[in-house]
Amino acid sequence: MIFMTENKENDMEWENDELKATVPFSAAGISSTIVLYSKFTGKMMLLDAGDGTTRDLLDIYGNRIVNEIDVIAFSHGHFDHMGGLYTLLGYMRMMGRTLPLNILIPKGCKEVEEIVTFFRSNYRESLPFDIWYHELFDGSGFDTDFFKTRAFEVKHYGLENITEDDIFMPALGYRIRIGQSIVAYSGDTRHCDSLEAGVRGADIAIIEATHLEMPETKRRVHLCLEEAEKVGKLAKAYMLIHRIPNYE
Ligand SMILES: [Zn+2]
Repeated sequence: MIFMTENKENDMEWENDELKATVPFSAAGISSTIVLYSKFTGKMMLLDAGDGTTRDLLDIYGNRIVNEIDVIAFSHGHFDHMGGLYTLLGYMRMMGRTLPLNILIPKGCKEVEEIVTFFRSNYRESLPFDIWYHELFDGSGFDTDFFKTRAFEVKHYGLENITEDDIFMPALGYRIRIGQSIVAYSGDTRHCDSLEAGVRGADIAIIEATHLEMPETKRRVHLCLEEAEKVGKLAKAYMLIHRIPNYE
């Protein structure tokens, strides 16, 4: 069992023969990005793309990101998970990406959908690559030649939901197969059965652990450390991300 609980501002990494999972940055309310790198094909998949994604990925992979990012899966539309998409698309356009880009979103995730549709229509004449977005829901999937993705529903809400009623936003976790390896990603969620099912048996689970201790409220938006560790242990190894940063 490998587990990592630190959330420093530098990389967290996990790897096996087939893939390397890197978390260049993840902090609740600021930004989260995960890169899955397929060692045999050189292709990359992003799980969320918060602020600073382009900068952080360039530091690690250089301009390979222009064409080798095959698919980006967004867990939900909160800014700290998708705020870097516009910059990344702009960088790919400027550098002349040629391969189509697949973007996976929870069905009804307006925040990402509108950036994609704006970008496509605004730069129609000068966009050298296709951007395709695919709306996923609980149990649906999307496969490219390199990444086989299945979505599972999670339970998350934010400032737009002001009551304690269960009005959840479109939010998904993902289970991705790369070769024979399985990666599970929680997205943002409070504890739910579908999360456990989505994580169970994965080679590496990447789990949000926003709260050190669960706040005294019924309105549970996130996992706490103890819950995240418990879920993580359903996988063969896990990383805990998306902690609340300690800025004075
Ligand atoms: Zn969120």
